[in-house]
Amino acid sequence: PEPVIAVRDLCMHFPIHRGLLRRQVGAVKAVDGVSFDVMPGETLGLVGESGCGKSTTGRAVLRLYDITSGSIRLEGVEIGQMPQSQLRRLRPRMQMVFQDPQASLDPRMTVEGIIREPLDEHTRLSSRQKRERVHELLDAVGLSRRFAGRYPHAFSGGQRQRIGIARALALNPRFVVCDEPIAALDVSIQAQVVNLLEDLQERFGLTYLFISHDLSMVRHIANRVAVMYLGRIVEMAGREALYADPLHPYTRALLSAVNEPDPGAARSRRRILLTGDVPSPADPPRGCNFCTRCPEVMPICREMDPALREVAPGRHVACHLHDPAITTPREPTRAAP
Ligand code: SF4
Ligand code: MG
Repeated sequence: PEPVIAVRDLCMHFPIHRGLLRRQVGAVKAVDGVSFDVMPGETLGLVGESGCGKSTTGRAVLRLYDITSGSIRLEGVEIGQMPQSQLRRLRPRMQMVFQDPQASLDPRMTVEGIIREPLDEHTRLSSRQKRERVHELLDAVGLSRRFAGRYPHAFSGGQRQRIGIARALALNPRFVVCDEPIAALDVSIQAQVVNLLEDLQERFGLTYLFISHDLSMVRHIANRVAVMYLGRIVEMAGREALYADPLHPYTRALLSAVNEPDPGAARSRRRILLTGDVPSPADPPRGCNFCTRCPEVMPICREMDPALREVAPGRHVACHLHDPAITTPREPTRAAP
């Protein structure tokens, strides 16, 4: 089958201007050559620390930005450079669930108004049909129809996120980017919202890009996982493989910090502490982006940028350690960053 979304070499660089003449002196390479597919009905988890470019990737894929370069195909249609006027027709097929339901819902609109807005903008349904659709959507996300006339402030964080989800689903999208959809919620209701997203996926045949910094949550919801560091995907694999046997030193470090509820799968991981700060995406290091913090850094890492390569079926990693063509000796001790 054809991927719902296919991304190739996506770059999102934000220019840096300085001085009175606002001359461009550089660029923040927030997303720097990212490629992935998401298949129908699948959830691809996109994980990494804050600032790694995962949210920017999600927004760029939905063309909420004009991208710097690269290809984005939505169900086979190239949208990478499509003008916003033309994108409008495709908007119903790709939607976003935002991190902060508080900020993404207009406080002056009723719940009905909020969910109805995309219907007003993109459909010719009658008022009555729209009201019926709003009711269906409230049912689908587990909210009472009696809430339709109330305002967002009357709801809890979890309920507000359900309203945001109902709005995202109003136009029957195929592809939904969920950007940290539970990060702003109480721990006690996070699981409910994740379960709801899973139910809705099954029921409506949705395809998700699920962005999160929470590796245990992603393990629960994703079929495959892509790990980002400094604007790049450094590892991508099926969930089982990635959590059982991470290949990239950065993935290993991230996973070593996760408290494993299942000791059998954890292979008693030693905690790997990363030292040093993440370099600025305006000034990434020469060679491998991770070379300033990598516990396994080799001389070649400071010279050559490792490409994301398929090292086993469905397993991709960007690291010289996993490239059989690289036979350079390792450094005896870790150099200071
Ligand atoms: Fe570490 Fe080198 Fe692999 Fe980069 S390429 S992750 S620096 S071992
Ligand atoms: Mg973010």
